Amino acid sequence: MLLFQMAVHAGEKMGKNGLKDTDSIATPIVSGTTHWSKSSGDLIAFKEGRRHSFEYGRYGNPTMKVLEDKISALERAESTLVTSSGMNAIVATLLALVPPGAGHVVTTTECYSEARAFIRDKLSKMGIKVTFVELNDMETLKAVLDQGDVTLFYTDCPTNPHLKCIDIKLVAELCHRKGALVCIDSTLASTINQKPLTIGADIVVHSATKYIAGHHDVIAGCISGSDALISRIRAWHHDLGGAISPDAAYMIIRGLKTMALRVETQNHTALRMARLLENHPKIERVYYPGLISSPWHHIAKSQMTGCGGVISFEVASDLHGVMRFIDALEIPFIATSLGGCESLVQQPAVMSFWGESDEEKAKNGIKDNLVRFSFGIEKFEDLRDDILQAPEKIYDYS
Ligand SMILES: *Cc1c(COP(=O)(O)O)cnc(C)c1O
Repeated sequence: MLLFQMAVHAGEKMGKNGLKDTDSIATPIVSGTTHWSKSSGDLIAFKEGRRHSFEYGRYGNPTMKVLEDKISALERAESTLVTSSGMNAIVATLLALVPPGAGHVVTTTECYSEARAFIRDKLSKMGIKVTFVELNDMETLKAVLDQGDVTLFYTDCPTNPHLKCIDIKLVAELCHRKGALVCIDSTLASTINQKPLTIGADIVVHSATKYIAGHHDVIAGCISGSDALISRIRAWHHDLGGAISPDAAYMIIRGLKTMALRVETQNHTALRMARLLENHPKIERVYYPGLISSPWHHIAKSQMTGCGGVISFEVASDLHGVMRFIDALEIPFIATSLGGCESLVQQPAVMSFWGESDEEKAKNGIKDNLVRFSFGIEKFEDLRDDILQAPEKIYDYS
């Protein structure tokens, strides 16, 4: 399958800009922060675009460029900008594409909490209009778009932790009719399962910290889209100074080599576990768009080739019973994040929503008995046995 080939070779053997002067199979880490010219004429040739080179490390670097080309191939994008974190990618995109004092951003009530807080608390103070809509309330979205001033629609697909999906093609049609851009945070899908740019999105962002790097050991982000849009974001990003180090870029290139294998395993494990838990007497509800019973299944099926390694579920117990369920698990780490080789588990009520009011939790659909699982690449049978023994530990007999 071409995806596997691209994850391994794009940007390198298959790339135009690979590091040509070396026959090393692994892309070299170019650690220099600045690049020299042989003469002033040579420098002018570079400035005029007649000679391919690099100038200063904050603007780009050969190792970084290989990574950007690889992600472009996977997302089917003209251009990609790799950044120092997923949040840096999101903030750079919003600042570059939404004009202060005149812009209008529409986002959804469920989307990555820090991005949502940035839009709500910071963008709104820059004279940018901000509107929140329910993820699949297309009527409200249409009404907001009819105001005629929307610059950009931004959301995650799927969302976290309820794994809701938005119809990207439909939203893009509605937005484009009114001149608004569409930016999708596709982190939970990974570049393997979903290609938002091929179904109408203008920009796709990822927290590359998750599936793309894939080993819980690098923080990074990326933004992909047309040359025209990415160069606007790149110009802003040069000022923000969110370049990743060449070492981090290399770690991600290395991680990407196995991404298709990892994600394929994670897709299968998550789907099989979701089906098993859906019929388990101690589990009240499972959230996973790969389940036929999911209200998002038809959308997921139309735009994803797999639903990723994250599932959420509500255990038939209370806050403390679910804490005992989690503590009884032997394989996963109790930790936030997702998409790496190691399985992670968390109870949002004591992790991301710790200290939040009951009202805030209710508003976000966070019940005390909600568990979020990010499957790693351990064997399905081992994870299954581990998860199926844990409900026995819910009850405190002491
Ligand atoms: C983790 C995450 C982010 C933020 O990425 P960082 O790399 O931590 O800055 C953004 N969006 C989603 C959906 C995420 O899961």
